[in-house]
Amino acid sequence: MSGYLDARPKVGYFYTGKKANQLVSEVLSKMFVKNYKAVPVVIKEETSVYDAIVTMFLEDVGTLAVLKNKGTLIGMVSRKDLLKAAIGNQNLHEIPVSIVMTRMPNIITCEVNDPLIEVANKLIQYQIDSIPVVRPMEDGYEVIGRITKTTIAKAFVELGIEKEV
Ligand code: ADP
Repeated sequence: MSGYLDARPKVGYFYTGKKANQLVSEVLSKMFVKNYKAVPVVIKEETSVYDAIVTMFLEDVGTLAVLKNKGTLIGMVSRKDLLKAAIGNQNLHEIPVSIVMTRMPNIITCEVNDPLIEVANKLIQYQIDSIPVVRPMEDGYEVIGRITKTTIAKAFVELGIEKEV
């Protein structure tokens, strides 16, 4: 009954007393990163700015996670980072992404059991488009997914569709 009404044997239906926003936040608190994350798109730190741009087009994403040789997260590179390098009139084949990316420890991350609403809040708070989903390891973070503004838009639409059923 959408949460407004509940039923008990011998009592019948009764009003739960919950307001609409309480019900919405109850639903949101049950949405977790693990159920919504997209596959990660990663490159190595020595990848050139040129190849990073090509990867962005081929993978159709706006942000790439940059990994150290061992596979741990070392940075994030976005469209504007690459544009900045490109207007610098340098040889894009020779500049590694590690020069233009944002580096650890300044990377905002999330984990599989985080509520999606908290990650959406981080996207807004830090004014970024993408947050890597990570798993802590001995020597850093392994990247196992990503949450982007598109992920949040998709989850929002899904909520609207579920309500109609
Ligand atoms: P765009 O540059 O395409 O507008 P963003 O708004 O996501 O994309 O990026 C803005 C800046 O934030 C860039 O310098 C980028 O390197 C950095 N950035 C991107 N993702 C993250 C993240 N998860 N944590 C910290 N910084 C990030």
